[in-house]
Amino acid sequence: VFSEVPQAAPVAVFKLTQDFTNDQSPQKVNLGVGAYRTDEGKPWILPVVKKVEKLIVQDDSLNHEYLPILGLPEFRSSASKIALGDDSPAIHENRVGAVQCLGGTGALKMGAEFLRRFYNGNNNTKTPVYVSAPTWENHNAVFANAGFEDVRPYKYWDAEKRGLDLAGFLGDLESCPERSIFVLHACAHNPTGTDPTQEQWKQIAEVMMRRKLFVFFDSAYQGFASGSLEKDAWAVRYFSFSKNFGLYNERVANSSQMEKIVRTTWSNPPSQGARIVAVTLNSPELFAEWKDNVKTMADRVLLMRAQLKAKLQALGTPGTWDHITEQIGMFSFTGLNPKQVEYMVNEKHVYLMASGRINMCGLTTKNIDHVAQSIHEAVTK
Ligand code: PMP
Repeated sequence: VFSEVPQAAPVAVFKLTQDFTNDQSPQKVNLGVGAYRTDEGKPWILPVVKKVEKLIVQDDSLNHEYLPILGLPEFRSSASKIALGDDSPAIHENRVGAVQCLGGTGALKMGAEFLRRFYNGNNNTKTPVYVSAPTWENHNAVFANAGFEDVRPYKYWDAEKRGLDLAGFLGDLESCPERSIFVLHACAHNPTGTDPTQEQWKQIAEVMMRRKLFVFFDSAYQGFASGSLEKDAWAVRYFSFSKNFGLYNERVANSSQMEKIVRTTWSNPPSQGARIVAVTLNSPELFAEWKDNVKTMADRVLLMRAQLKAKLQALGTPGTWDHITEQIGMFSFTGLNPKQVEYMVNEKHVYLMASGRINMCGLTTKNIDHVAQSIHEAVTK
């Protein structure tokens, strides 16, 4: 009965990791998957997380019973405060709803399902959903799989000037059908590492409000981009001040429908991660320690950006490399073309996405010379 199943294309970023794992070269470097690495190239369990895990294990009052469908209440409230700020009018006016989801992808799926079912009426599969060009590739598929038939790109990246195409972006906001849904990256845009400035966000907000567009923020990297939770949440908080942005009263009906969607998807979420977050955020000492841990990661990325740029400039690699330090977050959109990427992978054992995106955390003080030299050769050969 399964003889007709067609082969699905591999997911590019996981295929890249597999190729990297299979590569026997001692020089190999993985700049693909978006995960934090230490300067030893190792995954890092945040010290505060280790500490809190031990506290949880020792707490005899906890058990493995089901959580509520929408998740651990303390997690939901503390996560809302992190995103919107302690003094958020939206929280005080009870306009905020929160669901503990399975990762960022689960959150996107819940949001997309809810919108398809209830935004602009029932089962509105025709509402256009706009995602940035380029975007994290899964955005397209998550919204399409939730039933949206019209997922379109909006202009975002100007390859020529290696920066934001603000005029193109604003143009698409002006010309799209009213009430379209726009997926925006809250900070540290994946894959370009290029965010609007605060002035540009204000322009974007003005058009979106005037044209009754629906804002869907994907916030995957708060704190990680600049090292400051406040700075990285600026856009989300600016937009959330307005009652006109679809953050309507957190009506009981919305929660009840969210529960129904969750119930048929994962029924109720796992508890361990939520407990770690809730305990950390609800203790002033642990919260401070967590912010410090996050800053450690953000600072290492900033250092690698500065070093990579300096090394390329010292090598005299043709082109400008300012974008490496201007971009923020985990990723840099290097501007390398697919042929140059191929050279890096096949000849230099440096693994990066075909789009030219690199994970800055994959760089270490030990491999950065090899990476810079490889980029230099790829560009000049
Ligand atoms: N949105 C964006 C913009 C991301 O970069 C990612 C992670 N790569 C996700 C969502 C998904 O997050 P998670 O891995 O937690 O599902």
